[in-house]
Amino acid sequence: MAAGGSEDPTRELLFDAVSERACENCARDDDDLVAVHRVYVVPEAWDTPGSRQTVDEVELWCFSCRSQYPHEEAEA
Ligand SMILES: [Zn+2]
Repeated sequence: MAAGGSEDPTRELLFDAVSERACENCARDDDDLVAVHRVYVVPEAWDTPGSRQTVDEVELWCFSCRSQYPHEEAEA
């Protein structure tokens, strides 16, 4: 198949992202990926109370990242 210039590049990028199946946090190839919202946790300090902020963006994370980093599973 010849490479044409009329194909939508955005389409190809999306297809690549799906077919790669790599964790979006550590970029490791993995089939066990779950859509999550990353959660930023601010530890409590002497002058500030702790807080946590959930990011709107959905990322695909592998098991390793899900066990190490705070997150919330995205609604399917
Ligand atoms: Zn990962």
